[in-house]
Amino acid sequence: MRATTETTVGLMDAGSVRRVGKGRLLRDFGALVRKDRGNTADMLVYVGEIDRRKVYLEHAYPSMFAFCVKRFRMSEAVAAKRIRAGRAACAFPCILWMIRRGELHLSGVHQLAGHLTEDNHREVLRRAKHRSMREIDELIAEISPKADVASSVRAVPVRRGDSAGGAGQRGGNVGGSAAGHGAGLVGSAARRDAELVGSAARDDAADKSRNNETLSEASRATRLGSRNGNAAVGGRGPRNLTTPLSPRRYKLQVTIGQKARDELAELQNLLSHQIPDGDPAAVVERALGVLLAETKKKKGALTEKPRVGRKNGGGGKRNGGRSRAIPAHVRREVFRRDEGRCAFVDGEGRRCESAWQLEFHHCVPYGRDGPHSTGNIELRCRAHNQFEAELEYGREFMEVRRG
Ligand SMILES: [Zn+2]
Repeated sequence: MRATTETTVGLMDAGSVRRVGKGRLLRDFGALVRKDRGNTADMLVYVGEIDRRKVYLEHAYPSMFAFCVKRFRMSEAVAAKRIRAGRAACAFPCILWMIRRGELHLSGVHQLAGHLTEDNHREVLRRAKHRSMREIDELIAEISPKADVASSVRAVPVRRGDSAGGAGQRGGNVGGSAAGHGAGLVGSAARRDAELVGSAARDDAADKSRNNETLSEASRATRLGSRNGNAAVGGRGPRNLTTPLSPRRYKLQVTIGQKARDELAELQNLLSHQIPDGDPAAVVERALGVLLAETKKKKGALTEKPRVGRKNGGGGKRNGGRSRAIPAHVRREVFRRDEGRCAFVDGEGRRCESAWQLEFHHCVPYGRDGPHSTGNIELRCRAHNQFEAELEYGREFMEVRRG
């Protein structure tokens, strides 16, 4: 705590502010609010520009979200909010002026971002002026129809007497008799929440999928208009946070298609001896275990390169019949050595370590006779693989390739 007799705004502490008169207290507060709005607008300008230039990549971060949270120690929620709002402000600069004038707050921009399009933004922003969050929610409900329930994973409290046996979980799905019926599935799902480990992958997924795009201003506007929910930033808005209410209990809520629903019902029947109450959570847990084991077995099944380079077959990549395929033993060895994480290292020795959308990266490019050897191949997240390809071949060339 800073002890000071200074009366300049910004150097106050809880003790000295008590000695300030009421008139000055309010004047200072007004000044602070104005300064805060200016800072917020400036922050969005910078976030938008750093995001647009993807400056985070060369500093070994796979996404703007990771950059804000890990490098600048923002909370996930604040980072998500600023990134999403920064992109919206980048697409629709009038937002910045509204923030500076106090006509729109950061939370409002964040909330509106997924609903703004080139066509509607003037009208929507005009109507959002000086509105509370609740009023903005109402505005959104009016302009955007409700979509499917968003997938989410969050912690739930341990239930009284909750055990493997699931006492008190009896219901419409006992003995598999109702397994094929919606009531059994839904009823059981509602009674007992699925347990899953963490939501980071999903959040990263959204982040990465966004990350791989090179957005022009126009397409950015379209994208902003086509998205809803926190997924647009790839960040974790408050609704998507994993809240550890108790250790190792999570709620998984998903929307699935007819096929998956039928498969779940069939599995409930087939597993009805082992899972007598047909609990979907138990089925999902088993299914995940099986899928994980199978996927791990195929470590080498990672894609070798981003789609660039294959398209149009151009670039003289035939190389006299050399195979593009990296031998399985090399893939496995590289995956093991790099511990299943991106091995991009920036100029200061910081490693990326993202485990999302990993690809094999040739240090000496394959197109320049780089061998398929463990010495020449490292793991990269897709963002860094593309980043290095752009460094190697030039951004314009890569963008033409990506089409
Ligand atoms: Zn990376």
